[in-house]
Amino acid sequence: MTSTQQTAHSRQHSALLCAVCLVLCAVSGCAVLGTIKQPLAQAVAAGGELLDDGYADVAGALHIHTTYSHDAHGTFEDVVRAANAQQLDYVILTEHNTLQPLREGKQGWHGAVLVLIGTELSTRGGHYLALNVTEEIDRHQLTTQQIIDEVARQGGLGFIAHPYFKKGRWKDWTVRGFTGIEAYNVAHDTLDENKLRLALWTLTAPPEPFYLSIIDRPYDPLRAWDELVARHGKVVGIGATDAHEFHLWGLKFAPYDIMFQMVRTHLLVPSTPLTPDLVYEALRQGHAYWELALVADAQRGVRFFAHDGQRVLGVMGDEIRLEPNLHLTAILPQPALLTLFKDGQAIATASEKSWDVAVSDPGAYRLEASLNGKPWLFTNPIYVRPAPNDEPTAPSTQHTE
Ligand SMILES: [Zn+2]
Ligand SMILES: [Zn+2]
Repeated sequence: MTSTQQTAHSRQHSALLCAVCLVLCAVSGCAVLGTIKQPLAQAVAAGGELLDDGYADVAGALHIHTTYSHDAHGTFEDVVRAANAQQLDYVILTEHNTLQPLREGKQGWHGAVLVLIGTELSTRGGHYLALNVTEEIDRHQLTTQQIIDEVARQGGLGFIAHPYFKKGRWKDWTVRGFTGIEAYNVAHDTLDENKLRLALWTLTAPPEPFYLSIIDRPYDPLRAWDELVARHGKVVGIGATDAHEFHLWGLKFAPYDIMFQMVRTHLLVPSTPLTPDLVYEALRQGHAYWELALVADAQRGVRFFAHDGQRVLGVMGDEIRLEPNLHLTAILPQPALLTLFKDGQAIATASEKSWDVAVSDPGAYRLEASLNGKPWLFTNPIYVRPAPNDEPTAPSTQHTE
């Protein structure tokens, strides 16, 4: 590295530290935590200037079942109470094969939480989350691809649910036109647990250590996600609760309060207050990461963006062009073991609270963070596309006339 580069580098690092200070200030009290009214300072310092990526971080839980589904005992009101108690900004209910809560007018603000209604469709290819749809879909009459197309026709978003769950495992990997995939699902995460231990330990108090002990890195779903990204170019990853609160003898099993701490999908939204369109657009863009909040509280303070030292070029989910001096920066609320993946391969690790990596190749770059041996955070990729002049050009003979 030349001395000029070193100077530029250290200037960038000290500048970045300013940004980190700003973020720290925000998370340690300058901002009001647990609300979305004051976005955290999203800043990249460059030459003393502070740049803002312009997004607020909202936290929510998606893929939730209540008594509208045949296999859950928790009520709609239980979800609303727990979501407010856990200071979520939004939740998305996805009852099995019905939009009944939507017809009953349940979508909207309930306390400080925006409740949205989708549905989980049992297709021949597996379970499929359909969000932002308004008409019931007759799954019996349609193939998996036709269901995916119908969700898209309604302007909806679709996610392949729990691709490796025992019941409802995803079978049709030839489908196209879906938005994304659940790369983490709590129900899937319990598969490898001893069922007797699971049943007995569910009764432990406080329950958090037990539920924390369940959490593992979802190897197969992550691999499936990376492969879909390689095949389709852009595929959105989400973390799903698949919450089915279950009641027996006055006891609550897998209660919503705990499920809403097991996994939270955070969205980056350009403005608040939150609206259904803001939630769905952030999900569609992949402006999203998920947090296993029993491991640690992400405090709505995770940033992962691309910049050139002067401007923010994109955040997680964005497609950007490769250019000179392209860097990816991660800022967390506390130090963690960070791993940067490029096209599904781990290419760099660091134990840091803020991390800046120079990028010189196109690829899909996503970040994972772990703490004390437990997975904690997963971001959507920043998609670095080839620079325009690196793209294959047509044979020159076609341009000579
Ligand atoms: Zn399912
Ligand atoms: Zn489900």
